[in-house]
Amino acid sequence: MRHVAIVGSGPAGFYTAEALGKAFGAGIAIDLLDRLPVPYGLIRFGVAPDHQSIKAVARRYEKVALTPGIRFLGNVHLGADVSIEELLHYYDAVVLATGAPLDRRLDIPGDDLPGVIGSAAFVGWYNGHPDFADLRPPLDVSAAAIIGNGNVALDVARILAKTPAEFTGSDIVAHAFEALGASAVRAITIFGRRGPHQVAMTPKELGELGHLAAASPLVDQADFPPPGTDAMLDPGQRKSVEHLRSFAAAQPDGAKPKTIAFDFFARPVAIEGDGRAERLVVERTALDASGQARGTGETYTIAAGLVVSCIGYSSPPIPGIPFDQSLGRFPNTDGRIEDRLYAVGWARRGPTGTIGTNRPDGYEVAEAIAAAFPPTAEPSGRGGGAGLDRLLDSRGCDPVLFADWQKIEAAEVAAARTGFAREKLVRLPDLLKAVGR
Ligand code: NAP
Repeated sequence: MRHVAIVGSGPAGFYTAEALGKAFGAGIAIDLLDRLPVPYGLIRFGVAPDHQSIKAVARRYEKVALTPGIRFLGNVHLGADVSIEELLHYYDAVVLATGAPLDRRLDIPGDDLPGVIGSAAFVGWYNGHPDFADLRPPLDVSAAAIIGNGNVALDVARILAKTPAEFTGSDIVAHAFEALGASAVRAITIFGRRGPHQVAMTPKELGELGHLAAASPLVDQADFPPPGTDAMLDPGQRKSVEHLRSFAAAQPDGAKPKTIAFDFFARPVAIEGDGRAERLVVERTALDASGQARGTGETYTIAAGLVVSCIGYSSPPIPGIPFDQSLGRFPNTDGRIEDRLYAVGWARRGPTGTIGTNRPDGYEVAEAIAAAFPPTAEPSGRGGGAGLDRLLDSRGCDPVLFADWQKIEAAEVAAARTGFAREKLVRLPDLLKAVGR
């Protein structure tokens, strides 16, 4: 019998558990640990609430969690309740699937003003992450700036632009639904430091902006290179640029009160305001020979009472494990960090890629673990989950098991209002109360 601990119960953690279960069959005991009492990580807290088809992958993870030999242990905090050294003592292998839950900072003057919010916090707020339940983003302002040209910037723009009716069928939390319904934001600007050919936005997500009930996307024709140059883009990128060109060609719909304007070749250099964000100072950029953005020295100022930076994520350090800040991941070779310690997902690759990218990642690391620790019916000599349980018990840590999560989920579904998939519980005490604690 082999014992493996996976830290993090998002997509990377679940695909790894699934792959290990297939590789070892009954010869493995897997513990999936999460610091929150609920599983699914980025699926629950990162994927936009109006993208339920993406969130549906949680059903696959549920099957994994219900597989004999696999346990979910929520409310167990690596570093506070148990250390990596202790996990390595109890388990044959430990897999870090800890993702990248922190915001990369803009690192410009004024980025600490009230009203400047990172996407992890903003997305966490509208998705019911307990850490951001009290965020209260300023939505009493008419102009919002979104920094970055990735899919998260699109998610944030779309959520700011949607009407209440457009959230039907979503699982947006009540506090965000109500605040967004009362929002005064009308002018949303997405700033990209490079141009339309360099966006990190995928076509499906970009296309959605063309179908919003109350918002028109605006793109300046002058920002495009000659149409013939689109041919050198890969097909997905070409499709994204096609969407942008069609937005530029369309007449803004005067009946729609909101706008989502793309400001390309524009990088923020400062955020100003009297005690809160009021203005964004932007420098015009041009691409250098290597395709990177270089400032031209020309600056301008645009009103922005809410600034959401969507410029990527970072991971919190784990004591004793080297971390590469510039790449945003734990240095590893094909997922192996050091003897018996592995990384998958964003902890392995850095914060890029879709949910599905984590599947081959998890399978590859499971294969490496199977090669290093061939399945055996013999006891491995390590305490595994029983050892961890004793340790946690001695520390007064009472894990939330998968059956507890099912109770939380049932409580959320029972509280749902018409039109919503569920009413998420957003505070740790409420989540724990739902399981009778
Ligand atoms: P991302 O795709 O890496 O995009 C980050 C953007 O921020 C880039 O446009 C980057 O510009 C820009 N940026 C970085 N530093 C900047 C700075 N200092 N100033 C101005 N701009 C800066 O990151 P993301 O949007 O956070 O998404 C993370 C991953 O999740 C991506 O792989 C994404 O596709 C995925 N995701 C997918 C979905 C979906 O499939 N529906 C939804 C959300 C997220 P440069 O290109 O110039 O560096």
